Amino acid sequence: LKIIRSVKEMTDWSNEVRHKSDAIGFVPTMGFLHEGHLSLVRESTAHCDYTVVSIFVNAKQFGPNEDLDTYPADFEGDKKQLDSLNVDVLFYPTHEEIYPEGHTTFVTVEKLSERLCGKSRPGFFRGVTTVVIKLFNIVKPHIAFFGEKDRQQLGVIKKMVADLNLDLSIKGMPIIRDSDGLALSSRNDYLSKEDRDSSLSLSKALNKAKELFNGGETSTKAIKAEMVKLIESEKNTRIDYVSICHLENFKEMEKAVEDTLVALAVFVGKTRLIDNCLLGSR
Ligand code: AMP
Repeated sequence: LKIIRSVKEMTDWSNEVRHKSDAIGFVPTMGFLHEGHLSLVRESTAHCDYTVVSIFVNAKQFGPNEDLDTYPADFEGDKKQLDSLNVDVLFYPTHEEIYPEGHTTFVTVEKLSERLCGKSRPGFFRGVTTVVIKLFNIVKPHIAFFGEKDRQQLGVIKKMVADLNLDLSIKGMPIIRDSDGLALSSRNDYLSKEDRDSSLSLSKALNKAKELFNGGETSTKAIKAEMVKLIESEKNTRIDYVSICHLENFKEMEKAVEDTLVALAVFVGKTRLIDNCLLGSR
């Protein structure tokens, strides 16, 4: 595992490797790696000649009252895991390396970025798309892997790649969960024992939605009402949003059909958790 901290060195490596391979895989992360991240890494090492993983806690995607300063980190642990998975390069730049003094350019995917998480986290997706396109330009991957856990992020990035004719493909990967159903997230580390119990209400609410839909219910209002009831019955939960919407444009739907997206964001204590699923048999 080669650790690269400078943009120049990363770009030099990529330029050289692109001469001899047409399959550089890339997994961007904010570190504190868990099985969700590692599933993306495994997919990359299985299908690509080279795999680059980045760890960069991107300040530009955090709001003023969010958890930038407390975001969990374990660089040594992350390094060990990536080494054991035969990752070629760990790109681990500093904030100044990615955003040198005077950086003023941002990339915004309009409309898609304004819905769901974009409503409660203004500027979040602008920060994400800006750092992701910078990382793409630095790492120059042929394929980049993103988790469906962050379903809106995946959609926004796919749209950016299409709209800007970026020359790479994006692969979405399934959500990895704990055995009790909680979607893995670096932020789960914040949860107290009691909040960890309440956090199960997210996946339970999604399962409830699936169950109602499979039983013939298509009114999204009725499905949402049941989900809200279930989440609010748990201690310490505060709903940010529960949405039943179109998988591609994230617009709210009145009638659910196969492959409609159910997405939610819930504060459990102070921790904001997100999760989602698709309705139907797939
Ligand atoms: P993060 O470090 O939270 O920015 O996540 C880095 C990448 O890992 C993103 O593409 C996430 O969607 C993905 N990821 C995070 N958690 C999971 C999970 N539980 N299952 C699958 N992918 C995940």
